[in-house]
Amino acid sequence: MQVKCTLCDTVENIEDYSLQAKRLRNRRIYMYLCNNCYERVKDNTLKRHATGKFRLYEEKKKEDELI
Ligand SMILES: [Zn+2]
Repeated sequence: MQVKCTLCDTVENIEDYSLQAKRLRNRRIYMYLCNNCYERVKDNTLKRHATGKFRLYEEKKKEDELI
């Protein structure tokens, strides 16, 4: 099936029976990102995490306390 990247409108082909295609069919709202955008978003997310280290630690701590 053909999918359009949410960010840059690049159209890519993905396997009809791939997990990704299945998710796109099941959910109406699903952001598909092409490889370029995916890498870009991943980089940005990692950068955000690097600056928000303290908060991540806090969240982890709370999870541990629940167990
Ligand atoms: Zn894209």
